[in-house]
Amino acid sequence: MTLAIIVHGGAKTVPGEKVEANHAGCLAAVEAGWTVLRAGGSAGEAVEAAIRVLESDQTFNAGFGSTLNSEGGVEVDAAMMEGEKLSWGAVAAVQGVLHPISAARKLMDDKPRLLVAQSAERFAADHGIEMCAKEDLISEEQQQEWEEEKEVVDRPNTVGCVALDAKGILVAGTSTGGTTGQPQGRVGDTALVGCGLYADNHLGACSTTGDGESIIPVVLAKTAIDFLKGDTHPDDAARMAINSLVERVEGEAGCIVLDPQGRVGWAYNSSDMVVGYMTAEMDQPVTFIKKEEEQKKEEQLQSV
Ligand code: ASP
Repeated sequence: MTLAIIVHGGAKTVPGEKVEANHAGCLAAVEAGWTVLRAGGSAGEAVEAAIRVLESDQTFNAGFGSTLNSEGGVEVDAAMMEGEKLSWGAVAAVQGVLHPISAARKLMDDKPRLLVAQSAERFAADHGIEMCAKEDLISEEQQQEWEEEKEVVDRPNTVGCVALDAKGILVAGTSTGGTTGQPQGRVGDTALVGCGLYADNHLGACSTTGDGESIIPVVLAKTAIDFLKGDTHPDDAARMAINSLVERVEGEAGCIVLDPQGRVGWAYNSSDMVVGYMTAEMDQPVTFIKKEEEQKKEEQLQSV
């Protein structure tokens, strides 16, 4: 059985000075997840490990460094789904939880599986998930942006990961600080199965990013997975899913897709999308900010 992992750091515009940090963060996340898979760990463990790296990195809009809401606070959403039993867990509008993806993963074994606000925070604390002061998740850069009310040029960068383990189990996870200046209590697509993520061992798994209010009505992650039927390549399925969003609603979005054969794909209609991946067939992980970079590299490889 093949192993594979793909991560994203959001569909957005990456300003020049943040290019390096985005590549480095995605690479570190892929490596963390890949280490778990190579050691025989489960796809769930790998996705959690990769997303925890991104949640710790203030380059990304998840965990520490999340974008601030209208009240100047960090309120985050995260979810995980696995493709064998279709188990899932999610938290939304939570504060003071260092790694919301770990709380979401814990909820996969439980009922209820989606908890919000204080109830999610209580669950996390009761289950040994690292807690922190609400303010500890606010980075200096985000605080400054909020105080200056700067026009947001780069869309916040939600993170996600999809992995395939040695047992053939596919898992998807997504984590976000939401949208800049969002009203307190606003919940986007990230915590919603079918919208922010989906996993089905028979077809594939997907994590999305972008305008939650546009992703939700087209059920973007499940739409991408449905396009995999009939052995469609994940890259084509991802593109078709984004096209179907563009046809029906306004907004920017992106998605990463992995199938049971370990084939990866992604698509977006934002100007950039940070993506990194590693599969059993590769010598080392790769990361991209613009997809054309990959196409050029492939062309170069073929011409050698
Ligand atoms: N999808 C996230 C949300 O709407 C934001 C993002 O991906 O940029 O909360």
